[in-house]
Amino acid sequence: MITIALSKGRIFEETLPLLAAAGIVPSEAPESTRKLIIGTNQADVQLIIVRASDVPTYVQYGAADLGVAGKDVLIEHGGQGLYQPLDLEIAKCSLMVAVQNGFDYAEAVKQGARLRIATKYTEQAKEHFASKGVHIDLIKLYGSMELAPLVGLADAIVDLVSTGSTLKANDLVAVEHIRDISSRLVINQSALKLKQARIQPMLDAFTTTVNSRK
Ligand code: ATP
Ligand code: MG
Repeated sequence: MITIALSKGRIFEETLPLLAAAGIVPSEAPESTRKLIIGTNQADVQLIIVRASDVPTYVQYGAADLGVAGKDVLIEHGGQGLYQPLDLEIAKCSLMVAVQNGFDYAEAVKQGARLRIATKYTEQAKEHFASKGVHIDLIKLYGSMELAPLVGLADAIVDLVSTGSTLKANDLVAVEHIRDISSRLVINQSALKLKQARIQPMLDAFTTTVNSRK
């Protein structure tokens, strides 16, 4: 059996065409079932539906052989036990620093102010501000980061931005780009060796599809 870990929503949707290129078609959509294990047209391939941030953990421990995870999630996780052979170039966005309109971020940085940063991405926030020599107090959040500056919880947030419409709707503005984000294929290192005959053709089909889009 080959088990593939995916999260609901954009990653599932954007992985479907890649799976199809490898001849894999899920028998149900995660949105229309409560099942967390979803079969496919291939008797020996199943999908498991997990939180986006849990995908690396399932693959690391071999509970899933393969998975699809954002670079944001992989950097926070650390990537131990994971082979990351392919950037799938899906679920693209950017990790950015954002503040409420009217907060003079550049001036605060220039004056050496200590900044309160709310984020789910604590490792990347620490690294980013350390590299700029900015001292921060980190406030760990699990979602709705956009709210934090509006209610005085933080001076700035570190969050994913794609169109910017969520920032705009909440009177926030992006002030720094930390990195471009996309999702990668991750493979359990021992599964790749033990199940190479089944996994390699999938990897080849994904690679061909990704390259054909360039
Ligand atoms: P959860 O909903 O389980 O708390 P999440 O909000 O991070 O987790 P999603 O919103 O489905 O989960 O995001 C999954 C992945 O998709 C992220 O890890 C990131 O790589 C990517 N992503 C997140 N937001 C965007 C966006 N606005 N545009 C494109 N890709 C995004
Ligand atoms: Mg979400």
